[in-house]
Amino acid sequence: MKTVALVAHDNRKQDLIEWVEYNYKHLIDFKLICTGTTGKLVELAIKRKLQKTEKMEYDITKLKSGPLGGDQQLGAMITEGLIDLVIFLWDPMQPQPHDVDVKALLRIVVLFNVPTACNRATADYLITSRLYKENYKP
Ligand code: PGA
Repeated sequence: MKTVALVAHDNRKQDLIEWVEYNYKHLIDFKLICTGTTGKLVELAIKRKLQKTEKMEYDITKLKSGPLGGDQQLGAMITEGLIDLVIFLWDPMQPQPHDVDVKALLRIVVLFNVPTACNRATADYLITSRLYKENYKP
């Protein structure tokens, strides 16, 4: 089972939740890892959707909140080869208190050649790629 990391800055959380609601049927095939606040919102969104249909239980792994070290935890997981795909909706309009962590995460996904989407259109392309169903090793 592939592992997908989801992270959204505050001004992008609404975007991410809409995207998750639209794509939840794809997403429940993955193991999901999120930074803290993003994770709480994503879990609620997926559970809301599932209750309307399959009534399944679904848990995701929540790291620390991004500004409290969650981005760094995720970066460490990437270096361990534990993450297959990253959806990282970072805010291009506002400085973040943890800007150095944001940059470090963006650097580490490039360094470790992890497929990464920073906007919804790219996230759509990644999530519908046939490669995620294959045993693709970057
Ligand atoms: P959050 O962190 O999901 O805890 O809000 C996101 C981030 O700022 O990296």
